[in-house]
Amino acid sequence: MSISTTGIIRIARSKVMEHLPEMVFVLDEKELIVDANAIAQKWLGKPLDQILGGDPLDVFKEWPQLLQRFFFLEYTREEVEIPGDPPRILETIMTPIFNSKKELEGRVILAYDVTERKNLEKELKSANESLQAQLTENESLRIQLQEQATRDPLTGVFNRRYFAEALDKETARAIREGSPFSVFILDVDYFKKFNDTYGHKCGDLVLQTLANFLVENTRRSDIVCRFGGEEFVVLMPDAQVDAAYERAELFRKNFSELVVDYEGQKLQCTFSAGIASFPQHAASGETLLSLADEALYASKANGRNRVTIYKTENR
Ligand code: GH3
Ligand code: MG
Ligand code: MG
Repeated sequence: MSISTTGIIRIARSKVMEHLPEMVFVLDEKELIVDANAIAQKWLGKPLDQILGGDPLDVFKEWPQLLQRFFFLEYTREEVEIPGDPPRILETIMTPIFNSKKELEGRVILAYDVTERKNLEKELKSANESLQAQLTENESLRIQLQEQATRDPLTGVFNRRYFAEALDKETARAIREGSPFSVFILDVDYFKKFNDTYGHKCGDLVLQTLANFLVENTRRSDIVCRFGGEEFVVLMPDAQVDAAYERAELFRKNFSELVVDYEGQKLQCTFSAGIASFPQHAASGETLLSLADEALYASKANGRNRVTIYKTENR
């Protein structure tokens, strides 16, 4: 006995339909359901005889979310959430079928459960987000660490290590561009007295006040550094010796007039300073620093609360 080719195709089609993991519904031109495969019956919880010939409005009563898509005239592909415990997400594909006269002959609706995939996507997204948050936090910790490595913890101004690097860079730039710069070094006068009279905390407050004063009064491009104990140094790019002196004098005067309030005690203090400039006094940053320091000690020797420009006769 031979089976016709169309017979084989029919059998093959119905087998394929039955074994498809996706739900398949077929509607005719009158919008009645004319086919539904096994998985579709299982999902709907209805045997085929309760589905066939049925009005989708009745058959899909419990899935109104799906229904409205059935009646479109164009191919639609959408995700539909079916409420329940747990809710499921169905990917639905509706394909209208037209005859040669472009008249609607029916529709095929394919639906499959993508809940697991969606959940995985959500998990992946949230894992990505927390990874991103972690990266952002790491970056801010790295910046914080870098800040800590370059700043003096008590006053917040740059530390000596940072200053050494900045001085090297500035010297190289000045040589390259033929620009001047000055180094201004200062030391608080009789600082020990604040510690001895009012305590270490009071000394700390004086140092913080001086650091803030310097940061607030220097230019953005100037580099303020705590060089050690009660000694600070300011790198002044582009400042020739006279300009640096003028500014240093103004700082000295204004700082000497500043009142520090320590637990109700009104305190005042002064500093002594020295200045050396590139290229006038030396061509190396390190030498300039030691020359500025010599000038600072001349200020101390000459009675304190003054600024001295390095001169060979200071020696
Ligand atoms: P001069 O006018 O000659 O500079 O006298 P001075 O008292 O300022 O200088 P001296 O070198 O005798 O004393 C500096 C003091 O600074 C000694 C040291 O204990 C104190 N000191 C150094 N670092 C700190 C600090 O971070 N906080 C406080 N409170 N004191 C400090
Ligand atoms: Mg001192
Ligand atoms: Mg000192």
